[in-house]
Amino acid sequence: MLQQTQVVTVIPYYHEWLRRFPDFASLARASENDVLRVWQGLGYYARARNLHATAKAVVDRHRGRFPRSVGKMQQLPGIGKYTAHAIASFAFNQSVPIVEANTTRVLARLFDFRKAIDSVAGRKTLWQYGATLLPKSSARTYNCALIDLGALVCIPREPKCGICPVKKFCLAKNPETLPVRKPRPRTTRLVEKHAFVVCQQKILLEQSSRRWRGMWILPPLKLDGLKPSSSPRRPLYMSVFPFTHHRVTLRVFRRGAREITNKRRRWFPIRSLDSVPIPSPHRRAIKTLIAS
Ligand code: SF4
Repeated sequence: MLQQTQVVTVIPYYHEWLRRFPDFASLARASENDVLRVWQGLGYYARARNLHATAKAVVDRHRGRFPRSVGKMQQLPGIGKYTAHAIASFAFNQSVPIVEANTTRVLARLFDFRKAIDSVAGRKTLWQYGATLLPKSSARTYNCALIDLGALVCIPREPKCGICPVKKFCLAKNPETLPVRKPRPRTTRLVEKHAFVVCQQKILLEQSSRRWRGMWILPPLKLDGLKPSSSPRRPLYMSVFPFTHHRVTLRVFRRGAREITNKRRRWFPIRSLDSVPIPSPHRRAIKTLIAS
């Protein structure tokens, strides 16, 4: 949950998630709809799907017990090297390094590492640096300390070198310029047009097969079966939201429904929408349009 998401945002979701799915068995049994519904608002829904798939794999392949070996963990959906090492260190106190945002910054500065940290070679070197410094025991405490050092002292701008406990060993000559990253892809603008179709206290939604796979969105326009009932040039609603390196303008138009031929579309009673997984930009649009 904390991937690309701040702790304050995650806390209520974390508690609700554990209340709904207290163990692997309950998560494995849940429907994808329920899983996405509990995750709704956190974004990056692949994480929820991977957790769901991992719970099923733990139940099916490991008799409900999470594997202890880093190699076996990495065979589970959505668990890469960092996550496997974090689980091994924090849950099982194994002596393995952790390379994440904070420790990357500390390691890059300690070793004055000037190659791009998001390149394959750069990542490999950082893992090697991490392993070099790792103590043989108490790796859990050490890893927590390294993360805290990055979060509180060796911060991105104006690192507090004057009070840093590892200043003696640090090779960084100009720490604020580290770590080095590859140039970011330019933000591209997208315009997405969707339909608002309401009839007898029900709203027409479509199950997304793309960006928000499995979630319910306002039907994309250019649809067969959705007849215009007002000028297509004037949207009823407009908003802008970021998505990875895109800046998406959402435009919603009123449409009348005659022949609804698409099998991915369904009518939902408006009063039941709280229990339907809908991505935040579309939920905000629906709430505003229904309120007005
Ligand atoms: S001395 Fe400064 S740059 Fe080096 S690890 Fe400490 S805070 Fe970071």
